[in-house]
Amino acid sequence: MKYFLQTTTILLLLCASQAVHAQASHQDSLRGSPNSERSWWDVQHYDLSVSVDIAARTIKGVNRMTYKITGEPGKTMQLDLQDPMEITKISFADNKVLLSLPFEREGNVYHVDMSAIMKSGKNPKTISIEFSGKPRTAVNPPWDGGWIFKKDEKGRPWVSVACQGLGASVWYPCKDYQGDEPDKGASISIDVPDTLVAVANGRQSGKMLKRNGRAVYTWAVRNPINNYNIIPYIGKYVSFGENFKGAKGNLRCEYWVLDYDLEKAKKQFGRDVKRMLTCFEDWFGPYPFYEDTYKLVEAPHLGMEHQSAVAYGNKFRDGYLGRDLSGSGWGKDWDYIIVHESGHEWFGNNITTKDIADMWVHEGFTTYSEVVFTECVHGLAAANEYVQGLRRNITNDRAIIGEYGVNHEGGQDMYYKGANLIHIIRQLIKDDAKFKALLRGLNQQFYHQTVTSAQVEAYIITKTGLDLSKLFDQYLRDTRIPVLEYRIVGMNLSYRWTGTVPGFNMPVKVWIGEEPQWISPSGEWQTVILTHESTERILKADPNFYIRTSQVN
Ligand SMILES: [Zn+2]
Repeated sequence: MKYFLQTTTILLLLCASQAVHAQASHQDSLRGSPNSERSWWDVQHYDLSVSVDIAARTIKGVNRMTYKITGEPGKTMQLDLQDPMEITKISFADNKVLLSLPFEREGNVYHVDMSAIMKSGKNPKTISIEFSGKPRTAVNPPWDGGWIFKKDEKGRPWVSVACQGLGASVWYPCKDYQGDEPDKGASISIDVPDTLVAVANGRQSGKMLKRNGRAVYTWAVRNPINNYNIIPYIGKYVSFGENFKGAKGNLRCEYWVLDYDLEKAKKQFGRDVKRMLTCFEDWFGPYPFYEDTYKLVEAPHLGMEHQSAVAYGNKFRDGYLGRDLSGSGWGKDWDYIIVHESGHEWFGNNITTKDIADMWVHEGFTTYSEVVFTECVHGLAAANEYVQGLRRNITNDRAIIGEYGVNHEGGQDMYYKGANLIHIIRQLIKDDAKFKALLRGLNQQFYHQTVTSAQVEAYIITKTGLDLSKLFDQYLRDTRIPVLEYRIVGMNLSYRWTGTVPGFNMPVKVWIGEEPQWISPSGEWQTVILTHESTERILKADPNFYIRTSQVN
């Protein structure tokens, strides 16, 4: 997730974070790069247990992390856990002997001395990382992340976490790098007062009532998962469900909502989930996590794409809290959060970027999933209007792709401009069946993988056979909107691109009078002779292209 933020406060926050990133620190590099203390091992599984003291706003837990040594074993392992949380102990069981592993803290990073463990021939290995503290609380979730301690409408505790961008290491120790997901999934046990229910990702695998008035709920996913998607939800939850006959058989759909919202949820989810899944399976391929179920969980914030436990906080309203982000009128009769956050199950969760600099692969394609959904419900003309309408949110202030290796997201245009870039590619393909095959192909080619934007771009170029490299550079790595300059003198039409990266060569569909035609401008003036009799002196570009036109003399 992470939506476009339309309040002054948030814009200020964004500017502040830009300023911080103007100079990447040593901590940023430790966090954002696959450095030598990270690259020799590959996370296989996180088995996370956490006990929550809601009144004190503290947590205490252990992450039993299984990893595989993939190269020359390193003497030191980097683990991430952000201040003020603390790792209290790291241990390894070797033939019933419990070894304690020494570590040194450097800000939000722990360097663990692995010499004691290196003699063990075991591979994969499991270490237990104990941690505790008062985690950062979110001021304005989900954008400003951390733990969220709220009360529901009846004054009962309602607790969850949102930490995309900020990172899962804001509350539990892990390798906080998107390029390494636990290949065999994760489990999470949550110890809470027995008057409350705890929900997390995947399927519930246990519930244990303790004698001290507390209960432990255990949930697990079998598939790879992003660290920031592993999330507990604690509250007065009730559940209902349905089965969806999907592309890979029966998909269990479960919904966890606060008790007093049950009827509203039945109505809203009942209307939108199945039509969303039908549409997305057609356009993107099978839902990527059948084993782990599809889930919506009511959240004390607007929403987030937590894998197989999607956070839902749209208050059972249509649009984005009642608004149509496109202004086209086509975003009003469906629930934006159900559609957008579920779109991430394909783009973001199935296909994850290694570096958050490439996050447009999550947000651009997921914003395009809104366009696709509009098309499923209202047809192509409506979808075209929707994606064109989204342009009003584009600011062209920063490039879509951020800085690599320092945990730096690109600009917010990754959403709406990213979606428009995909829409332009669709126009250039000139064949919607091929375009759909491309979207399905991406989800097949990069199934359950972490990728780079470069890989995604190369795949699209190969699959379409189109020369799109300058198009990607223009829209992902530059902030300018291409301008198609033209002049019409007699029967001569001249045109060229300006405001573009060198070599920009995008063909474009235009009208002069009634008949559309494709032209292939470059940076140099070219002249063609208009073939038809026309008194029209104005060139109109296909509005599906996000460009400007300018008549010059
Ligand atoms: Zn999103």
